[in-house]
Amino acid sequence: ANGMRNFSALVQTKALVNGNWVNSSNNDVFEVKNPANGEVIGQVPNMTVADAQEAICAAKQAFESKEWRSMTAKDRSNLLKKWHKLIEQHTDEIAEIMTAESGKPINESKGEVMYGNAFVEWFAEEARRIYGEIVPSGAPNREIIVMKQPIGVAALITPWNFPMAMITRKAGAALAAGCTVVVKPSEDTPLTALAVAKLAEDAGIPKGVINVITTNKAAPIGDLFCKSPDVRGISFTGSTEVGKLLFRNAADGIKRVCLELGGNAPFIVFDTANVEKAVDGAMASKFRNCGQTCVSANRFFVQEGVYDKFVSQLKQRVEALKVGQGQSCDVQIGPLINKMQFDKVSAFVEDARSKSANIISGGKNIPELGSLFYAPTIITDVPPTAKLYTEEVFGPVASIIKFKDEAEAIQKANDTRRGLAGYFYSDNLQQVFRVAKRMEVGMVGVNEGIISAVEAPFGGVKESGVGREGSRHGIDDYVDIKYICMGNL
Ligand code: ADP
Repeated sequence: ANGMRNFSALVQTKALVNGNWVNSSNNDVFEVKNPANGEVIGQVPNMTVADAQEAICAAKQAFESKEWRSMTAKDRSNLLKKWHKLIEQHTDEIAEIMTAESGKPINESKGEVMYGNAFVEWFAEEARRIYGEIVPSGAPNREIIVMKQPIGVAALITPWNFPMAMITRKAGAALAAGCTVVVKPSEDTPLTALAVAKLAEDAGIPKGVINVITTNKAAPIGDLFCKSPDVRGISFTGSTEVGKLLFRNAADGIKRVCLELGGNAPFIVFDTANVEKAVDGAMASKFRNCGQTCVSANRFFVQEGVYDKFVSQLKQRVEALKVGQGQSCDVQIGPLINKMQFDKVSAFVEDARSKSANIISGGKNIPELGSLFYAPTIITDVPPTAKLYTEEVFGPVASIIKFKDEAEAIQKANDTRRGLAGYFYSDNLQQVFRVAKRMEVGMVGVNEGIISAVEAPFGGVKESGVGREGSRHGIDDYVDIKYICMGNL
């Protein structure tokens, strides 16, 4: 297939267990397809529960091996730096693989490789700063020493919308802390994961420290991760439904759980806003990755005074978006990832239409481009009963709701069980602080539509998750705090 032509050198067709590139024990495989045209671009092992068990054992052995355990933080840091360097050198190849399996426009794929790689660099730096404490003791002849130690084996389950960054954001932190990992990438995007793991191997990261299990039967393997006493932490990015399931199943083993789940991001434009900038932010927040990010604006609340101006400017911009095959450099919107997402987006729009919302742009698929393309869409007067209002659409659909005053906007913005990102535009200082404090989310963008950064803590409140990734807090999920009491000194 021609998708393979350019990036063959980094494409792996086997899974990685204990430093060996392996088939599944029953030799089963599954195909990876390009969502832009349905073309098969490769196949990977369909690993079984027994294979995953082997990967856990390998990770445990590697964790306990002298090679990894006695390595200094500086040496671990250097390995991560080498990995970072190799990823940097292969940016274009990884991006091509990513675009081929996810449909993401090539410029966005390159952006993701750089963003994802920045986590490797960041955690290479953090590895040397995982400090403990010596606390003044309340008793004479005693010292209180607090140290941070790696939790052990961490299982990482990642989604398709950021095929690389969601892996490095977890694995970078885990390795920096001294943990070992078993990665279960999305069945839609295993090739990016394997390519990045190959570079980790080339960087000299010891065998068994990073294992990658590809499978299209996630549930039983997720179960194993939850049940295995050898897995000490589970880090998951994906849907709220699966997150809740993992949280429940991990309870029995009292596992460390980090969950990055869905959002329902409000994007508020106040009368006090700079409307041009708000439109820029809206475009970036809503249409990046075809709207398939968990921090994408899901509901736009626009105040009466700027409503008409905002909607007409947004319409102009949306209708100018270039939709097409991700390989072309000028394409801004690719296909949706798979039929399930496509059907969901279509159904949400139809649901809003039937509840008398107004579709002012798009609202239809684009069969001439391919079966998974959906036109960038703007819908106004979306009622609170519409699915678009209450659930995350994860597609290129902007839902707009008009409001009268600040209190109403905040009430509506917070009227959801999710709380990941929230955005608002205002040039009034007092209003900025008032609203930023009252938004029930883990991340707030003030006059900004793209807020993710390796230096900043990423994560949600309410049902959007627990734990934070990136920043210095990203290490916390991978370390235990140990208190050592030195007595009778
Ligand atoms: P989405 O596909 O919307 O990102 P999912 O939660 O379905 O969300 O997928 C995220 C990741 O979770 C993928 O790697 C997927 O294979 C995995 N996954 C799906 N179901 C389960 C499950 N029951 N247990 C563990 N992992 C799962």
